[in-house]
Amino acid sequence: MARETGASCRLCRRENLKLFLKGDRCYGDKCAYERRPYPPGQHGQRRGGKLSDYQLQLREKQKVKRMYGLMENQFRRYYDLAERHKGITGTNLLLLLECRLDNVIYRMGFASSRDQARQIVRHNHVLVNGRRVNIPSFQVKVGSVVEIHEKKRNVPVILEAMETVARRGVPNWMEVDKEAFRGTLKALPNREDLTMPVQENLIVELYSK
Ligand code: SF4
Repeated sequence: MARETGASCRLCRRENLKLFLKGDRCYGDKCAYERRPYPPGQHGQRRGGKLSDYQLQLREKQKVKRMYGLMENQFRRYYDLAERHKGITGTNLLLLLECRLDNVIYRMGFASSRDQARQIVRHNHVLVNGRRVNIPSFQVKVGSVVEIHEKKRNVPVILEAMETVARRGVPNWMEVDKEAFRGTLKALPNREDLTMPVQENLIVELYSK
């Protein structure tokens, strides 16, 4: 009998995209989206048809929000901030999300999911420029050095994540010294570096109404 694999997998199926919320499991044959690539629920397989503009915009916002594991009000705050920054609002939004400390820890390969990265940060395992930071939303600046605290380098989830990071690779806007459990944010990514299938302009359209 089929077994419910947890709420995270339902989100991927709902968004019709692998959001990689469950770490290693997302790369194996237990991935619920690979097995059942249609929306969850009794009528999931029957849903279809053309989405309205509003539905498309809403789905895009939900997708990005869920990808980074944020609540609606947090996500909206990032949007408002992105709008106030110079440049393209949609790109600004993605850059703000990318610079969150939990995302940086995940991207550097010290955690196998953003959710796990958030736990690692909250549990005081992370230093930024030599100082402990336990706020997952902390914005990492270009040039900042992020490292795992010396006394926490034997935490199993961190070691396991570092072993499996090769599957997704470390982005080129970061530099990681695995031996030293340390990484540097070398630069902000260009929009084309962010390869996840996101149409941020739809989010801008949604919030601009
Ligand atoms: Fe679940 Fe990960 Fe697959 Fe998404 S990508 S359905 S979170 S296993």
